[in-house]
Amino acid sequence: MRILVIEDEARIQAFLARGLEAEGYTVVAAGDGREGLDLATQARWDLVVLDLLLPGLNGLQVLRELQSAKPELPVVILSARGDVQTKLRGFELGASDYLAKPFSLDELLARIRARLRGAATFGDEHVLRGGSVVLDVARRQAGIGERTADLSDREFRLLHHLLVHAGEVVSRERLLAEVWGYDFDPGSNVVDVCVRRLRQKLGPEAAIETVRNAGYRLATA
Ligand code: CA
Repeated sequence: MRILVIEDEARIQAFLARGLEAEGYTVVAAGDGREGLDLATQARWDLVVLDLLLPGLNGLQVLRELQSAKPELPVVILSARGDVQTKLRGFELGASDYLAKPFSLDELLARIRARLRGAATFGDEHVLRGGSVVLDVARRQAGIGERTADLSDREFRLLHHLLVHAGEVVSRERLLAEVWGYDFDPGSNVVDVCVRRLRQKLGPEAAIETVRNAGYRLATA
């Protein structure tokens, strides 16, 4: 498994590289946003650990570019900016996870394992169908009629969850727990924002219904 670390603080960069390598990951580090983005797009990675305050390009800019180039690549943000606004911005831009500094290495490793295990588990299935939506799990691509859409990691997880439970109402709380890994309500509309993006990508035929005061349902008929 190959992990790219984009972090400008040499001490943290070295600490991360040692910690990840000890777990058997292959690690390459970049200390600059621009260099990190180039590396991220030019080589194959299983996951990116991304700092936000970076020289060159800041982390959110890197994330935005990376999302359009490689929407399926999981990105874990690691940042001293632990405020809710920045965190939500990161999730809106497609980050898979967010860890505030100072962080514990064990916690980071657990999150990374969860992300990578998720990818491996999803990889076993090939295609999921529900209503008029088809999800190509390996390619992380959704199809509907003639239209196909590349999905970000988060959009993929959300759609995957809705498809596995097609026809059922899935609550926001459950989506926050299963797709975002939150065991609390961040008091924001991250779920709604992500559903809105999915609807835009898939078009109205996808029939992701809002069930008032209950959650969302992917209609099957
Ligand atoms: Ca930094």
